[in-house]
Amino acid sequence: MNTDRHLPIYLDHHATTPVDPRVLAAMLPYFTEHFGNPTSTTHQYGWAAEAAVAGARETLAAAIGASAEEIVFTSGATEANNLALKGIAEAYFSKGQHIITLKTEHNAVLDPCQYLELLGFTVTYLPVDADGLLDLSQLKNAIRSDTILVSIMAANNEIGVLQPLAAIGELCRERAVLFHTDAAQAIGKIPLDVNLLNIDLMSMTAHKVYGPKGIGALYVRRRNPRVKLSPQLHGGGHERGMRSGTLYPPQIVGFAKAVEIALADLEMETARLTGLRDRLWSQLSQLDGIYLNGHPTQRLAGNLNISVAGVDGNALLLGLRPTVALSSGAACSSAKIAPSHVLQALGRSESLAYAALRFGIGHNNTVGSIDLVATAAISTIQSLRKLALRS
Ligand SMILES: *Cc1c(COP(=O)(O)O)cnc(C)c1O
Repeated sequence: MNTDRHLPIYLDHHATTPVDPRVLAAMLPYFTEHFGNPTSTTHQYGWAAEAAVAGARETLAAAIGASAEEIVFTSGATEANNLALKGIAEAYFSKGQHIITLKTEHNAVLDPCQYLELLGFTVTYLPVDADGLLDLSQLKNAIRSDTILVSIMAANNEIGVLQPLAAIGELCRERAVLFHTDAAQAIGKIPLDVNLLNIDLMSMTAHKVYGPKGIGALYVRRRNPRVKLSPQLHGGGHERGMRSGTLYPPQIVGFAKAVEIALADLEMETARLTGLRDRLWSQLSQLDGIYLNGHPTQRLAGNLNISVAGVDGNALLLGLRPTVALSSGAACSSAKIAPSHVLQALGRSESLAYAALRFGIGHNNTVGSIDLVATAAISTIQSLRKLALRS
């Protein structure tokens, strides 16, 4: 299905993505035909399901330079982040109670951190510069003798900014502090090797990379160093005791297929998306009072986030609604009427943080649809500004 043939054009690929038909095809046999429980070891129904899960685990591990036993399946990145933060906090409690993270993290990192603060942990929320990048010397200075974990995202879900993972990993390794990264937006979009980058824990999800919703994983390093993790779901002892609950073979198979496809197409798709993104920006930036949010080049290929001066953010979204499906700020927080915490961390004024558009360009988008969206956005902005002048 090509969603680009339908209006509104879908440009919200940071919120979720459609399932790739090849992914769906790989999943289907595991609903009705090979429906067994992977932990049923006494019959072929269980063996078939277990073989599928084992194959998917190998594929995912290979995709990030890990080994299969280091992959813990979860319901998505929210659960993986919770497992990483709370699981490390509990397991390393006696070593220290200090955690470092970033102000621009997803709520699935910030909220568990706030919860840990209630339990008595101390959390440092590092600022970012005007482009959304972490300052490494600030991270260096923030590490204390009781720091147990640094949690810094790979790619931001609003502004697409890519943090310098290699340098962060090197610093954490030097100081013997564990390094967790939320790679929900990064997996399948940029190369990620947990050994090259010195990553100890990494959260992943399928549905941002053309896989199904409700499945993700946490990478947990097993050697150099061996990471201890306290489980947050207790039960049948699945996933080497780290996450109990019957595995979901169709989702797991779909997750691995999605990542496999994304990595095979990575270079080509990155170049194509960058072209579309730059095309959109070159048209929109011809207007006055349009500001790019986030670093101009250190960002996901499919991400463009802009603030528009002199218009009401809601009126802008409303005006664009028939043409394009997109989000203002972060989709996850748009239930709350508050300017995005990410745009505020960049130092954007409240009015510019309100009047922001997040374009998330993906597989089905074409040059034609990008031009259509650019034209619609320009005329909507111009007419809203005219109205504002008159009133
Ligand atoms: C989407 C997202 C999440 C949440 O992932 P789910 O799999 O939907 O729970 C966490 N972190 C980031 C950066 C995201 O973009």
